[in-house]
Amino acid sequence: MLIVPERDIADLMTREAAFDAVEKVFAAMASGDAYNFPVVREAIGHEGALYGFKGGFDRADLTLGLKAGGYWPNNLEKRGLINHQSTVFLFDPDTGKPSAMVGGNLLTALRTAAASSVSIKHLARADAKVIGMIGAGHQATFQLRAALEQRTFEKVIGWNYHPEMLPNIEKVAAEAGLPFEAVDLPGMAGADVIISITSAFAPSLMADHVSPGTHLACMGTDTRGKQEVEAGLLARATVFTDEVAQSISIGEAQHAISDGLIKESDIAQLGAVINGTHPGRTSEDQITLFDGTGVGLQDLAVAAAVVDLAVDRGIAIEVDF
Ligand code: NAD
Repeated sequence: MLIVPERDIADLMTREAAFDAVEKVFAAMASGDAYNFPVVREAIGHEGALYGFKGGFDRADLTLGLKAGGYWPNNLEKRGLINHQSTVFLFDPDTGKPSAMVGGNLLTALRTAAASSVSIKHLARADAKVIGMIGAGHQATFQLRAALEQRTFEKVIGWNYHPEMLPNIEKVAAEAGLPFEAVDLPGMAGADVIISITSAFAPSLMADHVSPGTHLACMGTDTRGKQEVEAGLLARATVFTDEVAQSISIGEAQHAISDGLIKESDIAQLGAVINGTHPGRTSEDQITLFDGTGVGLQDLAVAAAVVDLAVDRGIAIEVDF
């Protein structure tokens, strides 16, 4: 069995490799070659932790495994560790023997950013110039860096519930040589692409804050009850997702579905657009919305890629197991 520890991931994994792995696995999901197992998420009654498993099997790439981990709210304060902790385990699909154990913390941020980036590549207008960020926490910086690679953006605008956090994304804009402007929520009407990545349980962005032709990637809602945008916005938009079952139950679409504003059949897999079996954006004034819920196969895809990179560089740790 090979081990790739968390400390080695930053040197090995690139945004490009994460993008390619996620685009490929979304395509495999839509063509039926890859499927996710039901998600397990438990409040374990110890340290306030939420712990769970996300797994799946990609028959095309022969990637089988799971990500185990979750959220320990006291880690930072009590132990100086980050609160989100996860590890990916890969198995040989021919034998069931474990093949790799991979640090999953940085990979989670890279694969989540890759998902919205894949949606921008396939759904945003080719002439998109202004990107709007809603959220300025840990994931937001990864999201913005990956998104900026997809179009020739000329400006970043941002809104955050906690405005004192906005310098986090302003810094990323500056690194890319782009101007940054803090706006109010109606100011998001000036964006061609909007990414929302917050932990909110009530909508911030309203339907009339969004201009025709915008592409949105709603990435923060990954649990029942969370919500970032007004449900009516989904009724105005053409809605895409990583996985429909998650979108309607734990994703942004859960609210529009329960309010009866859209039906499950209104939501398409982003992988279908990648495969060319769904036309994706069909007009310049259409609003497209990607509901990125985060699937286990994304984790397995980036973990498998990083194992290959570690083997190539001769730094994968081999253990007899
Ligand atoms: P974080 O704690 O670093 O940042 C949280 C962000 O949410 C900040 O911008 C904060 O200002 C904002 N926020 C907090 N309360 C708010 C409120 N009431 N209204 C509006 N905004 C509010 O968290 P993070 O690590 O950046 O994660 C952000 C979200 O992304 C979380 O909900 C997390 O579960 C989710 N996430 C999703 C995926 C996926 O695959 N879709 C993957 C990882 C994380």
